[in-house]
Amino acid sequence: MKRRKDNSSKALVRICGRCREIIGDDKYCRYCGAEASDVKYEPADDVIRCVYGPPPAERKHTCTACGYTWSTMLMIDNERYCPECGSEAAVEEITDD
Ligand SMILES: [Zn+2]
Ligand SMILES: [Zn+2]
Repeated sequence: MKRRKDNSSKALVRICGRCREIIGDDKYCRYCGAEASDVKYEPADDVIRCVYGPPPAERKHTCTACGYTWSTMLMIDNERYCPECGSEAAVEEITDD
């Protein structure tokens, strides 16, 4: 049985045209603040990150301009910009105690 490599069935993710981070459906890149107008699509397999590092921590982000908030559960969180307006967002780590 022959196996053919089929790229068409792979899931594609949106990548920021400036910093090449994954931006999903956001209007602005959370990592560099660039408007999502120059996005690229790449197979999800090619952009999997390093899995080693500190344990995930919950962080709350609050946009300093429009007040949009979102939280993440990541080991390393480099999200610094609002996905709604592209302004800088404040980051606060949420701890249990
Ligand atoms: Zn970016
Ligand atoms: Zn905002």
